[in-house]
Amino acid sequence: MPSRKFADGEVVRGRWPGSSLYYEVEILSHDSNSQLYTVKYKDGTELELKENDIKPLTSFKQRKSGSSSSSPSRRRGSRSRSRSRSPGRPPRSSRRSASVSHQPDVKETKKEVLEVKLTPLVLKPFGNSISRYNGEPERIERNEVPHKSIQEKLHLSQESSYGSTQYSLRPRREEIKFKEMDSKEEKVVAKARASSSRTFEVTSTQTKDLEFGGVPGACLIMLGLPVLLLLLLLMCKQPDPSLLNFPPPLPAFNDLWETRVFGAYLLWFFLQALLYLLPIGKVVEGTPLTDGRRLKYRLNGFYAFVLTAVIIGASVCWGVELYYVYNHFLQFALGATAFSVALSVYLYARALKVPRNELSPASSGNAVYDFFVGHELNPRIGAFDLKYFCELRPGLIGWVLMNLVMLLAEMRFQNRAAPSLAMILVNSFQLLYVVDALWNEEAILTTMDIIHDGFGFMLAFGDLVWVPFIYSLQAFYLVRHPNEISWPVACVIIALKLSGYVIFRCANSQKNAFRKNPTDPRLAHLKTIHTSTGKNLLVSGWWGFVRHPNYLGDLIMALAWSLPCGFNHILPYFYVAYFTVLLVHREARDEHHCRKKYGLAWEKYCQRVPYRIFPYIY
Ligand code: NDP
Repeated sequence: MPSRKFADGEVVRGRWPGSSLYYEVEILSHDSNSQLYTVKYKDGTELELKENDIKPLTSFKQRKSGSSSSSPSRRRGSRSRSRSRSPGRPPRSSRRSASVSHQPDVKETKKEVLEVKLTPLVLKPFGNSISRYNGEPERIERNEVPHKSIQEKLHLSQESSYGSTQYSLRPRREEIKFKEMDSKEEKVVAKARASSSRTFEVTSTQTKDLEFGGVPGACLIMLGLPVLLLLLLLMCKQPDPSLLNFPPPLPAFNDLWETRVFGAYLLWFFLQALLYLLPIGKVVEGTPLTDGRRLKYRLNGFYAFVLTAVIIGASVCWGVELYYVYNHFLQFALGATAFSVALSVYLYARALKVPRNELSPASSGNAVYDFFVGHELNPRIGAFDLKYFCELRPGLIGWVLMNLVMLLAEMRFQNRAAPSLAMILVNSFQLLYVVDALWNEEAILTTMDIIHDGFGFMLAFGDLVWVPFIYSLQAFYLVRHPNEISWPVACVIIALKLSGYVIFRCANSQKNAFRKNPTDPRLAHLKTIHTSTGKNLLVSGWWGFVRHPNYLGDLIMALAWSLPCGFNHILPYFYVAYFTVLLVHREARDEHHCRKKYGLAWEKYCQRVPYRIFPYIY
């Protein structure tokens, strides 16, 4: 029988699950089968810990009060005061009593905790940075350049915040404020404890709330979206696409599939893959992963777009008939669907072999759910990043190509010498959106898709099928359902589109620039809230005006894309309706993640910026 290192009743330091912080615990018992110790924290919490997560008291050096501290807190200046809001912090009463006993008091405990973080003893947290509890209150500061020096001095810089829980200390506040924060904190802490003790007990299966309605929701979406795609495209081809004619007649199976079309789709996909591999464009690093690594990404999406335009232009000159794509639109969409399913199967299969730290924070351990949401975070074949590639290239550039196909089809179908103004508006608005995304390719590295979601059916289908074949619905609609608009109306729509674009672009660029370099002098006028993860939150500028201003701009643009189609049918407005649902859900997901990530700092942000773009929906 393996021997145990610690005896019952011994007072030691136990690591708080999911963090690198150690607290004083008493050994209650030891289970020789599971090799787990049952320990009791000073506030009465009992947990089971592995031997590796327990250290003798002697391995923590005590510091004399008044000695110069090497902890980050001390470097913040004399006003900084240790008042950690850690999950393991005992209730007030017990802390007070502890300080008169021989136990280290709260301040000492914190000093030790901070010191532990500066030693090689620091351990990586379980899971990922998103699920880390962060109950540290924050302070509001201007994003001034001198702040840089303070930040630089902080424990191995802010970059490492992804790898370990950072503790920042804030100035003393009035007692009344403390009390309010305390009661709030106790609730958050209780929640964090409940979830982290669960995580700790379960070693292989991740226990978490599943998004998208869990497994049933994932199944429904996976089956429902391809059917919806089929119905929408069939409806769009109908001479009268009104709801009264729903459902549209289904074509014969032979009309749905053609191997030549599938071959053409594969050609497109691999052409884009080839362009992605071109050694042009700069290479940048993504956000740090949980193990501190940063993946490298080549930014050549815009070049790929230009080269694709040249290749398509040359093909048309050599007699390639783009009308073929319009005639086989449904088959192309189903070919892309088949490909995205095959890709999802491959992605899931390979994800089963990767180490746990390479799995996505969104994955759950449930096969169906993980197949949907994506199991592996950054699947790569060598340096070829499959998710990053699919996010912007075959689907997004494909969307522009589909719009061009529709423009040519409209001229042919309606015997026009030039495309309609409505078609020109739809094409140019969406072209601007795609070119903008490719020009600002680096910004995608800080989006939820890249940092949180794995690569599975959701993104594979979304990127490769939904974007090119559903986002081009307005142009597809206009081929058979012309809508003549006057220039004054066009000007109003253009103004709407531009206002949406300005909000969208400025908000995204501001956040991206801030995340890239929080001390950028150009952002010095912005106010920020400090969070104990090391990252700050913007509370002025676009992000102080409303939460998720970028979604607001995107939504305004979505409306501007549909308006050129007129008001005869609801079909061209499908995108606006769908996108609203997507953004409502996405905003809720992000709020949830940020609340977990930033704890009380996020609540403070919500108090400072109470406006949401969908205030009454949830
Ligand atoms: P965001 O780019 O809005 O990223 C959300 C993240 O921003 C949060 O998780 C948080 O991450 C950070 N953040 C939130 N608030 C603040 C703040 N006050 N200060 C600093 N950072 C903050 O989300 P998405 O990835 O969802 O969207 C990116 C863009 O893509 C949006 O413009 C969206 O409209 C668009 N989009 C378009 C779709 C389409 O189909 N057309 C689909 C989905 C998105 P952290 O703090 O960790 O940096």
